[in-house]
Amino acid sequence: MFKNKETFKEAFIEKLATVHGTTLDLATDMEKYTALGNLIRDYITQKWIETNNQYMKNNQKEMYYFSLEFLLGKLLGSNLLNLGIADACKEVLQELDIDLDMIENMESDAGLGNGGLGRLAACFLDSLASLQLPGHGCGIRYKYGLFEQKIVDGYQVELPDNWLKFGNVWEIRKPDKAVEVKFGGNIRTEISDGDMVFIHENYDSVLAVPYDTPIVGYENNTVNTLRLWSAEPSTKDFDFSSFSRGDYMKAVEYKYSVEAISQVLYPDDSNFENKILRLKQQYFFVSAGLQSIIRRYKKKHKNFFSFADRIGIHINDTHPVLAIPELMRILMDEEGLGWDEAWRITTSTISYTNHTIMSEALEKWPVDAFKSLLPRIFMIINEINERFCKEAWNRYAGDWDRIHHMAIIADGYVKMAHLAIVGSYSINGVAKLHTKILRKEVMKDFYEFFPYKFNNKTNGITHRRWLLKANPSLASLITDTIGPSWVQHPHDLIKLTRYADDASVLEKLYKIKMENKQLLSSLIKNKYDITLDTASIFDVQVKRIHAYKRQLLNVFHIMDLYNRLRENPDLDIAPRTFIFGGKAAPGYYIAKLSIKLINTLASIINNDKTIKDKIKVVFLENYNVSLAEKIFPASDVSEQISTASKEASGTGNMKFMMNGAITIGTMDGANIEITEEVGNENIFILGLTSDEVLNFYRYGGYNAWDIYNSDARVKMILNQMINGFLPDEKEQFRNIFNYLLYNNDEYFVLKDFASYVDTQNRLEQKFKNKNKWYKMSANNIAHSGKFSSDGTIHEYAVGIWKIDPTHISE
Ligand SMILES: *Cc1c(COP(=O)(O)O)cnc(C)c1O
Repeated sequence: MFKNKETFKEAFIEKLATVHGTTLDLATDMEKYTALGNLIRDYITQKWIETNNQYMKNNQKEMYYFSLEFLLGKLLGSNLLNLGIADACKEVLQELDIDLDMIENMESDAGLGNGGLGRLAACFLDSLASLQLPGHGCGIRYKYGLFEQKIVDGYQVELPDNWLKFGNVWEIRKPDKAVEVKFGGNIRTEISDGDMVFIHENYDSVLAVPYDTPIVGYENNTVNTLRLWSAEPSTKDFDFSSFSRGDYMKAVEYKYSVEAISQVLYPDDSNFENKILRLKQQYFFVSAGLQSIIRRYKKKHKNFFSFADRIGIHINDTHPVLAIPELMRILMDEEGLGWDEAWRITTSTISYTNHTIMSEALEKWPVDAFKSLLPRIFMIINEINERFCKEAWNRYAGDWDRIHHMAIIADGYVKMAHLAIVGSYSINGVAKLHTKILRKEVMKDFYEFFPYKFNNKTNGITHRRWLLKANPSLASLITDTIGPSWVQHPHDLIKLTRYADDASVLEKLYKIKMENKQLLSSLIKNKYDITLDTASIFDVQVKRIHAYKRQLLNVFHIMDLYNRLRENPDLDIAPRTFIFGGKAAPGYYIAKLSIKLINTLASIINNDKTIKDKIKVVFLENYNVSLAEKIFPASDVSEQISTASKEASGTGNMKFMMNGAITIGTMDGANIEITEEVGNENIFILGLTSDEVLNFYRYGGYNAWDIYNSDARVKMILNQMINGFLPDEKEQFRNIFNYLLYNNDEYFVLKDFASYVDTQNRLEQKFKNKNKWYKMSANNIAHSGKFSSDGTIHEYAVGIWKIDPTHISE
């Protein structure tokens, strides 16, 4: 269809007619977008069916990636790219006087995730399909994605993200594949044929309806499936008697309580939200996902002997950990297996990725609430716990403390990470340092008990979305310089190092960066009426707003620079544009106050004529995947300044690097591996190491007041929070002063300040030498192949999942 322009045009016009009852002349942009989307989906569907048939026929292992979040962004552009028809499509539309970029913008972002964890899941799906691996996604079809952020008077305001308002051309609803999920009720036991059986009674029934989205591989005919579940009232439970009696309220109440399950994504990042509705969400999608996997498995297999050789289930953090007891339940209560056999299958099927060491983010649920919501699941977890504690007792007889620490149920809580470790065959961290901290600190006892389960898989990003799609001119330059092999084999980007001294390549790199900065500047000019100097350093921190990510450290550097400029407006500095973006959890006070602080500073600095436009500050509202695609290509400096030990990996750092930005960062997460790749001369490292941080946490010895009293710059900045320097009618910024000094600066912002400023000064000197800067930039791009998620997924496939590629023929 896409080889012949005329047939394509006809098909497009036909879609406008059949889908929207309109014509080319009359169609709105939204109608053009959905018509094109429908057309592309039809094209994908043929490959999708073929992929499913081949997977069914081949009888090989298939993987399911269970995740509470998938931060997909827009799909039209990436589908066109992966199908290999982006250019053809653009040309044809041009002939119809339609701008493809504009059409792409009509699509809403699928914002079904908070940040890194959800985006990782999306990158992994892209890599699985692109490596021809049989790997699917399973999650929730939230009616509302992560909230839309508006900045009003400098404050974050949250609006609902109604992403489905205009429909979703990519999904296919499969009502005939719906399954039932049961909550509450009680468990009655009976002896039947000498066996104890468990009967679930008086439960509330919820219908889980799947919506399937195709996941298109890169030019390879593979189309995997992302299955997202929606919660609906089950007709069986819909209370018609009360409805016909006129008791609408009761009927409606049931409907709402069910629909609440897939209504919203919890907007919390790096913090555990202790809400029973969230537990409901977790069980809901895990139970539905497993039921549909088993239904499919049983179409081909008469028994469960080979289950673990045919099916792999990966749980993205502990959110889907109820897959462990739920698989046990299905195997025992529904399929009649005994405990030992069910346990052997479960613990050979499930693998787990840990994403955080922050104790406040480790999920644990109060026993009482858990028990009444999921009575049978609780019984099974209880049994898993007892058996595990017995095993631990055999090994550490008398060491109550240790066993108490490791127990799955203790102190009135069900501890989800412990369940994940005991019930899965593989536990991985997401960067070398993170895995080391898991082994040596956070999960030390478990590592001693199950050393063979622990392994590292450093995160990655798909170079297709984050380079080919987001930065087409850079992608072309790379291909012109080293040939096209890097697209299939991102490690080949290393060939670029040969050109790191080639003045003509560096000049082109510079031109592309300037063009991208110009594009972002126009966007900023249009939206915020702020004029930027594209020759200035675009110094960018975009990520969730969180104390451990230390936006405040960045802000303090800006305040110090501004203080120096106010003292001496002729100070010879390279002009800088500080760009921020990111959402704060709605209930996270200090994070939201940081946003207000950035905006307050921005309005002071951007309007201060005396500093001659040497620095500008911009906060971009509603940071999401689509905005990110515009920001990374336009960045000079990548801010990765989390308190060492706190950022498990980071993936924003990789996207910046791949687009030629230079990192200023701490020795944390994947920054360490970026440093290993590019060498110290191509990155700017600052601050405490993770060992130093962990030692302060363990032994004390840090006093924030000492720094306040000894560093005049710090004193000045902190005093500016309370002395009227910042317009602050409600005296809110005093809370930042208090937070840092009276709470002793838990993330070492003040402690790392001097090192950060020194490092920023070194960076500035390097920037002044254009040749040296772009040499660094070229070296960063060249070494970014190591962080393609294709490599990461290859390691998961070989090292954990044991799945093989399948070639799908046309
Ligand atoms: C990559 C990405 C993230 C993760 O960024 P970090 O800097 O690793 O925290 C968050 N949000 C979006 C939209 C992203 O694209």
